[in-house]
Amino acid sequence: MKNDFFKKLKERYEFFMEGRNGPDKISNFLFIVYLLIGVLKYFSPIAVYVAILQYILLAYILFRVLSHKKEKRYSETVKFDHTVKGWEFYIDRLKLRAENFPEYSFRTCRHCGEFLKIKRKFGIVKVTCTLCGKVNSYFLL
Ligand SMILES: [Zn+2]
Repeated sequence: MKNDFFKKLKERYEFFMEGRNGPDKISNFLFIVYLLIGVLKYFSPIAVYVAILQYILLAYILFRVLSHKKEKRYSETVKFDHTVKGWEFYIDRLKLRAENFPEYSFRTCRHCGEFLKIKRKFGIVKVTCTLCGKVNSYFLL
């Protein structure tokens, strides 16, 4: 009886979603943003505007999920993937900083731009670049 109800519900959902885009990477990401904005709303002095922004975001998520233009949504997903790939470089560096936080500090070489891992200590630190061999001095806290 109960199983039958859920089976029917699932069938109806599948019938409704036929030919539609459905939830994808972008809508999942935007839904997380939507939830974060929901939390932020309680700490914001302009809560009304934040709530309006949240509803606009929700409307856009529903538009994407219920959209019949699958090809267009797919091309947007490909663009989204490309953008995330561009951020990966910075995200990886942030992860590295977080993993080594108390003991090591990270700086870029002033001559070649190499990412340098430096043992953290107070004051001016001289570091020889591992790539170009030139000496950099940094002030660490
Ligand atoms: Zn260098």
